[in-house]
Amino acid sequence: MRIVRRPTLYTTGLLAIVVGGGVAVAAARIAPMWAGVGLVPVLLILGIGLRRPLRRWRTARTPMPSQWRAWLRRHIPLYDQFSPTARARFERDVRFAMDEYTFEGVDDVVVTDPLRLSVAAGIALLLHGRPSWELPGYRSVLFYPGRFNDAYYESRDAAYDGMVHEQGPILLAAPSVRRSWADPADADNVVLHELAHLFDFENEGPDGVPSLVAAASATSWQALVRREMRRVRHGDSMLRSYAAEAPSEFFAVAVEAFFEQPGRMARRHEALFVALTAFFHLDPRTGNQTGRPASAAETSAGETTDRTEEG
Ligand SMILES: [Zn+2]
Repeated sequence: MRIVRRPTLYTTGLLAIVVGGGVAVAAARIAPMWAGVGLVPVLLILGIGLRRPLRRWRTARTPMPSQWRAWLRRHIPLYDQFSPTARARFERDVRFAMDEYTFEGVDDVVVTDPLRLSVAAGIALLLHGRPSWELPGYRSVLFYPGRFNDAYYESRDAAYDGMVHEQGPILLAAPSVRRSWADPADADNVVLHELAHLFDFENEGPDGVPSLVAAASATSWQALVRREMRRVRHGDSMLRSYAAEAPSEFFAVAVEAFFEQPGRMARRHEALFVALTAFFHLDPRTGNQTGRPASAAETSAGETTDRTEEG
């Protein structure tokens, strides 16, 4: 996550110059002394366009609370493996997510810092290898008191630990979120699972091809997914059986395993590990940035579909 993306800076600056200049010229025709009116749209456009960068700039300057740092150290194994520079960037991304996402509790759920950190750390982890990326989707998280069903209703047979929607909040069962990072090496993490689904939202629907995968490599990615899903069905995979439900579920389950059991994945599913390393530009065994450089396709971030997703 960058404080400011270069395209944002250029677009905002250009827009301010064009609109401000136009207004100044038009006003000066009426009376030369009115040319200064052009400053009004300039300030307005700069104010709107640079609001988030300014906020991030300020956030980046405030130190991280020591309790947050202690939580990260306890629950995110990569945190201690990062170099000091990478750790500082990771902490900054966590703070950006903590600041920019809204977190709400349903019913009697109290939104605590550990709950918020659980999501923010997941976001920072997924984006760590790709500093120019932003997580696609709506920046709002709802914590449910327990598992819920399609009607967002808690009941004895409710089965969803999490769910993501088109243009809607990320829904998570608070107890499942707490379990996600209690054991960060069990390849079972509803936060990473639901966040991973956000990458899969694109114009063509959630098809297990993350929207940031370059179009050129989508076909080989799909072939790899088919092969790996077959292995899941035949009981020859480290991924749990839910990965065979659909290509989109395969991707989400694979992301959980990639971040929580990278060594095992590298040994048992080398091609998948290599593909995910290239996608996230990160080797989760070491925390090192690696893989191929980001492709032009990364500009397609932010698109979502009408898929309702379960955990
Ligand atoms: Zn899912």
